[in-house]
Order: sequence, then structure tokens, then C-alpha cells
Amino acid sequence: MDETNYIRLDSIFDTVSIIAEGAYVFLCDMKTDVSRWSKSAVDFFDLPSEYMHNAGSIWAEHIHPEDRQAYEQNIADVFNGKSSSHNIQYRAKSADGRYTVCTCRGMVIRNDDGTPEFFGGIIRNHGLFSYIDPITGLRSLYGYFDDISGIISQRKNALFIMLGLTAFSYINDVYGYNFGNRVLQVISRTLSRFFGRDSTFYRMDGPHFGIINPSMTASEAVEKYEELRNYLQKDLVVDGEKITLVLNGGAVQADNMVVASETLYSCLRYAYNESKHNKCGDFAVFSDIVSADNRKVIERLNTIRGCISQSCRGFYLCYQPIVDAKTEKLKGMEALIRWKDEIYGIVPPDLFIPVLEQDAMFPELGRWILRQAMTDGKQFLKINPDLVINVNISYTQIKKKGFLKELFELIEDTGFPPEHLCLEVTERCRLLDTKMLKDMFAILRQRGIKIAVDDFGTGFSSLGFLRNIPVDVVKIDREFVKDIKKNTADQHSVKFISELAGAFSADVCAEGIENTEVRDFLKNYNIGSLQGYYYSMPVTVNEIIEKLNANQA
Ligand code: C2E
Ligand code: CA
Ligand code: CA
Repeated sequence: MDETNYIRLDSIFDTVSIIAEGAYVFLCDMKTDVSRWSKSAVDFFDLPSEYMHNAGSIWAEHIHPEDRQAYEQNIADVFNGKSSSHNIQYRAKSADGRYTVCTCRGMVIRNDDGTPEFFGGIIRNHGLFSYIDPITGLRSLYGYFDDISGIISQRKNALFIMLGLTAFSYINDVYGYNFGNRVLQVISRTLSRFFGRDSTFYRMDGPHFGIINPSMTASEAVEKYEELRNYLQKDLVVDGEKITLVLNGGAVQADNMVVASETLYSCLRYAYNESKHNKCGDFAVFSDIVSADNRKVIERLNTIRGCISQSCRGFYLCYQPIVDAKTEKLKGMEALIRWKDEIYGIVPPDLFIPVLEQDAMFPELGRWILRQAMTDGKQFLKINPDLVINVNISYTQIKKKGFLKELFELIEDTGFPPEHLCLEVTERCRLLDTKMLKDMFAILRQRGIKIAVDDFGTGFSSLGFLRNIPVDVVKIDREFVKDIKKNTADQHSVKFISELAGAFSADVCAEGIENTEVRDFLKNYNIGSLQGYYYSMPVTVNEIIEKLNANQA
């Protein structure tokens, strides 16, 4: 194979690798039968090299003898033109001689004149995990992902439902683990009674179940959900023991859309969490929550999600000034993310952060945000060395193991002084273990990093949060501020929040100041900083630098 063939093979290979998301990639030049395989696959399966001649036969040797014939038939169909794509599951032998379950998807790329040029695709290694949940006998989460992919690739319609039980761990605590398993078995059988024979049922992680139905509408699902919810609350008997379970549920409709299965799963998780955390267990349908064209929203999310894996293409940070309430001098600014492309224009964070923060991809974006904010922040500090840069941190970022290590590495890498960094977290962090959070914040504060609790007062347990977890700044949400002149309830809330923050020695920042009346009214309270359109909209890095230079002049 000559040099130009290798260059072309490598360039297509690299492109596919970017979007492969942890799967192995293979690409074969069909004229010369030279292939390139991911280094990770070469290592895991002990293949001869990244570049191989006749890789199809080498790979066949690794496939379990019982699965080999189906694999060879499938490949032959692709090569003799009977089928244009390769889609198969088999067991493959790894370097240590054990078999692992793999799903392989591939297709032929043709020349302008229709001659097959490349055969390439991805292999997903499902490890030694099983497709069947041993407790309930239902298909597992791996099966669920596979079935979502299948439905999407065949552009079929389906309703995806996720159900879960609140505080199931109490069943294990009170009745023991075995009884907990019995409950899961009984529920798995109960599901088919309520959701019918057309559905496929899955046991996802913990006390969560998945349902896929090709024809059910969202309103039919709501009806069935309510019946099941009632039953689990009032009539459930397991091994003669009457128990009460509290159900949560969400759904997303896939209507002939071409998106990654992970995107759809994030939308489903988002709907489910909405039911659990904001709707007291009422069924939540994704399209109702976003109240926009379901397919457009999901496709846009999918594009945005894909951009995270391409070095966060299209994302950028804007900065909104925060001023001292007394002097109105600039104290710092908050970094706020945006995403932009030619088709969708500028997309604000409310349209992608809440859904994508559930996604396995999100921590990568979180890292990018921190790195970018500290890189920009260093420039700002050169002009005004007193500034503090606020960065929003999603609770899913904090939850991830290694968050602190990563943050300190980023601080080291960028050379940003940590005493000028303030992390804004929301009260949703209360979902994490309090002791873990407290320890983490103590380590951050030792390094001089400040912690602000954002949107304070909008959560369920504001008082509890402050009492348990010390923070430096409390940010009062715009909802309490915007009508404060007229609304006495808001006046009481702001008075209460600012006094409470004072009692815990935290500074108060009021958000959403849009005019002088609100600014003046807030002088009645003990508020240290102000932020809002009245002072400035969020603006680009260059605009901030211009502002800073003008202030210094
Ligand atoms: P937030 O953290 O509460 O940010 C303040 C939001 O209020 C910003 O919206 C800001 O543009 C808007 N705002 C500021 N002053 C005013 C005002 O006077 N009037 C009105 N009507 N709005 C004002 P934005 O930039 O659209 O961000 C929305 C939310 O998205 C943020 O709310 C935050 O929760 C999230 N977000 C933004 N950037 C990031 C990020 O980098 N990481 C994470 N995890 N979340 C982010
Ligand atoms: Ca914020
Ligand atoms: Ca806020």
C-alpha cells in the first residue's frame, strides 16, 4: 500500500475515532486488505499490530467458535454486496484468554463510482457483563443500550420509559437483602401486567426499570403508570408481607431520529429525575418538560453532545460582572457558557446543561469550562489583580471521583491563583453525601478557593444546607429579587436569607438586578455584591478586557 493510501486510511480512522466514545475503531482499505485498528483493541485482544494485513481472519481467530460462523457469514454478506452494514454481537477472546461480549457495527464506504473502498466500524466491548440481570431475569442495562441503538439505527419509533423506586434501600435495611431481591422480582413481573405484552422490560441499575414499547403513546403511558403507582402504594404484597413503594417515572419518545443512544438515554434520565426531584413522582415526559418540538430538541442536544467529544467545539464562555454593593466597583465576574454553530446559532446553557449534566460526557465539558475560565481569568487579573472569577460547577462534576485532583491539576497547568477562584454550586449538591461534601469544601477552602451556593432559596433544604456545609457566598436567586419592591413575601425571603447568610458568616450576592429601583431597595438588606443586566449583560472575553482597560484608564 503506498503512502497516500495510508494517509487516507489514517485520516478517516482518526475522524471515526473522535466520535467512537470509548469503542474500538477498525478501518480496512478493501483494495489492499490493509486495516488499522485502535491501539486499545490491539492491547486488549493481543492483536499483532495497529496496522494489519487480512485483519478479518486474524479477528475471526479471536471470536468464540460458537459465534464464528455467524460472524463470517455476516462479513461475507458485506463483502459480496448482499448487505451494506455489519451488525453483530459475539464473544471475543482477550489477551488473558477470557471471552468478553462485543457488539460490532460496521459499514462499507464506497467511491464516487460505487466501488467499495473502505470497510470500517466500531466494536464495543461490554466487558464480562451479562446481558441478563441475574436477579430478575430481565434484560440488563447493556441490553437496553443495545436495543436503543438498534431502534435508532433502523429509524423506528418507540417510547422509552424509565421507572424507579424512591428510597428502596430502606427495604434492604428493614427486611434484608434477600427480601429486597424478591421485591425486585415481583415488580419485574408486575410490570408486564400493567405495561402489556408489546413492551420489552429491563432492569437498569439499582431499583430502576426500563421499558421500550413500539406503539404506546405518552398519554397511554401516563395512564398505566398511575395504575401501577397506585398498586405499588396500596396493594403490593411480597411473600405475605404488605409493603408500600413510591414510584417515579419518565419517558422520551424516539420518532425516527438519528442520534446517539447515549443522547436519548440522557433525555430519559432527565425526565426521570424531573419526576423524582421536582414532580413528587408524577410521570414526566421529556417533550412536555422542554415544551418544544421533541425531535428538534433531541437532535440539537445530540449535536451539542457530539461537540464535547471534538475538543468542545463551538463552546465559549461569556463573563458577567459582579460589583460591590456599596461602591458599585467591579469585584469579579461569573463565567457563563454558550454554544454556537452555523445551523443552530447561539444556544444558551438552559437548553443543554440540565439534560447533558446527566451525561457521561459532561465532566469533559466541565473540565474545559474550568480550564478556559482560568486561562481567561489570568488575562483579567493582569489588568485588575483583585478580581475573583466565579465558575459554575454541576453537582455531577463534583460527584465524579477525582474531581479535586483534576481541579488542582488544572490550577497547576494554567498557573491561575486559586484565591481568585470561586466555585458556584447549587443546593442540588445536598443529594451527595454531606460528609464527603464538607470534607471536599474544607480542602478547597484551605487552598483559598471560595465556594458560593447558587440560586439559594429555590431548593428544598436551604437552611439545612448552610447549617451543615460552610460556604463563603450565598447567591440570592433572581426570582426573589425581580419584584422585591412590590412583593412582601420576597422582601421577607431576602431579609431571611441575608440574615441567615450573615449568621453563617457568608457574603450575600443578589442576582438579576435590572434597574436602579431594585438596586436601591436592596440597600435595606445586608447584601455585599450585586449582579445583573443593570450593571452588564454577560459579555465576551474581548469586551471584558476592553471594560477592564477602560476602568484602569
Ligand atoms: P445561573 O448560574 O443562575 O446564572 C445566572 C443567569 O442569569 C445567567 O443566565 C445570566 O445571563 C442571567 N442573568 C444575569 N443577570 C440577569 C438579569 O438581570 N436579568 C435576567 N433576566 N437574567 C440575568 P445564562 O447565562 O443563560 O445561564 C443560565 C444557567 O445555566 C446558569 O444560571 C447556570 O445554572 C447554568 N450555567 C451557565 N454556565 C454554566 C457553566 O459554565 N457550567 C454549569 N454547570 N452551568 C452553567
Ligand atoms: Ca451561577
Ligand atoms: Ca444563579
